[in-house]
Amino acid sequence: MVTAEQKMQLMLALRNHRVNDNRVLQAMEAVPRHLFVQGHFQARAYEDMALPIQCGQTISQPSVVGKMTMALDVGPRHKVLEVGTGSGYQAAILSHLSRRVYTVERHRPLARQANKVIESLGLVNVTVISGDGSRGLPDQAPFDRILLTAAAEDPPANLLAQLRMGGIMVLPVGQTDAVQSLIKVEKTENGLVYTELEPVRFVPLVEGVAQDT
Ligand code: SAH
Repeated sequence: MVTAEQKMQLMLALRNHRVNDNRVLQAMEAVPRHLFVQGHFQARAYEDMALPIQCGQTISQPSVVGKMTMALDVGPRHKVLEVGTGSGYQAAILSHLSRRVYTVERHRPLARQANKVIESLGLVNVTVISGDGSRGLPDQAPFDRILLTAAAEDPPANLLAQLRMGGIMVLPVGQTDAVQSLIKVEKTENGLVYTELEPVRFVPLVEGVAQDT
């Protein structure tokens, strides 16, 4: 059973990790993380740790989700693309902060499950798409914000091309078996501005669609 006290512990852990933006904290408080994991992991959903989900993937650590969401600086009028739906947890948080969320996942079973939970929460501004997110979503571009929750070796050119002028993209970069860096890329009239934020560890961005059904 999930108690109010467990949820409060998580909110405290977030603040201790310098997740201090009130809009982000409110969005995270509003999203029941235990619904995005299964079986006995539900009991640990309000601890500040990554947990396994289907298809050998992971739901990210809440404090990392908080920092990525802060770095993305999402506003209520923004159209956001997330690459790597996973459980759908991050997409649900973005749903509270933005106008419209498109999220793409290469494992069909994950996309299906994430969509089910997001629908059950009534988050009608989120569209879950099963496909290869490394190509972005040209039909819906440009995006105000783009978030990758899988690590690329470099910011994918396809995605940078789908970022609106003035837009922000946040992503982990680096090799899978090493520590990666979370970076922020801003598209300005004078070119791309890169800021390195902190060391992180994510599953790799893999091209193509997974062959599970
Ligand atoms: N944001 C997720 C955590 C994601 S884990 C959450 O809140 O739970 C990273 C996810 O990226 C994995 O599910 C993986 O399958 C997915 N992924 C990796 N490469 C991808 C690609 N090219 N297109 C779409 N999804 C991809």
